Amino acid sequence: MAEEVLRVKDLEVQFKTAEGYLSAVRGISFNLKKGETVCVVGESGCGKSISALSIMGLLPANGRIANGEIWFDGKDLVKLRQDEIQKIRGNDISMIFQEPMTALNPVFTIGFQLCEPLRIHQNLNKTVAAKKAVELLKQVGISEPERRMKQYPHELSGGMRQRVMIAIALACEPKILIADEPTTALDVTIQAQILDLLNELKQKFNTSVIMITHDMGVVAEVADRVIVMYAGEVVEEGDVETIFNDPQHPYTQGLLASVPNVDREQEELTAIPGSMPSLNEKIEGCRFHPRCPFATEKCKLQHPSMTMIGNHKVRCWLKGGQVSDDNINSQRDAL
Ligand code: SF4
Repeated sequence: MAEEVLRVKDLEVQFKTAEGYLSAVRGISFNLKKGETVCVVGESGCGKSISALSIMGLLPANGRIANGEIWFDGKDLVKLRQDEIQKIRGNDISMIFQEPMTALNPVFTIGFQLCEPLRIHQNLNKTVAAKKAVELLKQVGISEPERRMKQYPHELSGGMRQRVMIAIALACEPKILIADEPTTALDVTIQAQILDLLNELKQKFNTSVIMITHDMGVVAEVADRVIVMYAGEVVEEGDVETIFNDPQHPYTQGLLASVPNVDREQEELTAIPGSMPSLNEKIEGCRFHPRCPFATEKCKLQHPSMTMIGNHKVRCWLKGGQVSDDNINSQRDAL
């Protein structure tokens, strides 16, 4: 069995608002194995990006980790000081953001931004760092890399900027790469190229990847395992074949029914009615019940916990009894 590189346990993230602290992530747990790609999927506002930022130690000033643990390399990242986290960020764990223009610094050249992590984390001198930076640009498919080194982000196309972001993220050969909607802002052709590139680089460096996306097409392309989030909770988790061929949670079924799939029998595309609840919306029972076509009285009153079904987990009253998270973890460890 592949070695575990990350374990998130009961993570709860809150934001300070005029109404006090409100939870955006409500006790999520998952692990990531070496060389594995886990896709975290769900609509905007489900807590997937906030979970990623928590792992990176990059929560905004009004956010806090109220509870839980994030284990990496024998350390609980939640308990580390900012200077300790900084040594891990960009070195062992890197992140690619949706819009590279917000992540790349407009006033520094591509070369400077690529060389910086190499000099800080790997202690490379200026000449060696520059040589490696050119190599990295070649690896991510950027033509004329020496010339690009001297250019500024605004001088490159969107697809090229995303390739530069990937090169920066991979500069120190991280153990974990977190990609937050890395292709959403790109057109379909460039999107496919970037996904291929990520797959190729992952194979080459045996990097573990957490891919945050709302796009089931992207999930089908890259995932080994899928975590479905809704309103701050994990509602289903399983390997990619199980999630696509035998989705159990009505929300996962709704997500799949809303995207075209040539491999699956599909009568028609249907959107999930309603929208994700806001942070301050108080929902009793199952958090999906206001949008669920199968909701019962019990669903409106009692909150279901995760249940193990075969080799995947589901949070739904229609799918078995209530099992505590501890029981689930020990059952999964035994698999
Ligand atoms: Fe729907 Fe009830 Fe299952 Fe929630 S618990 S997803 S409301 S059937």
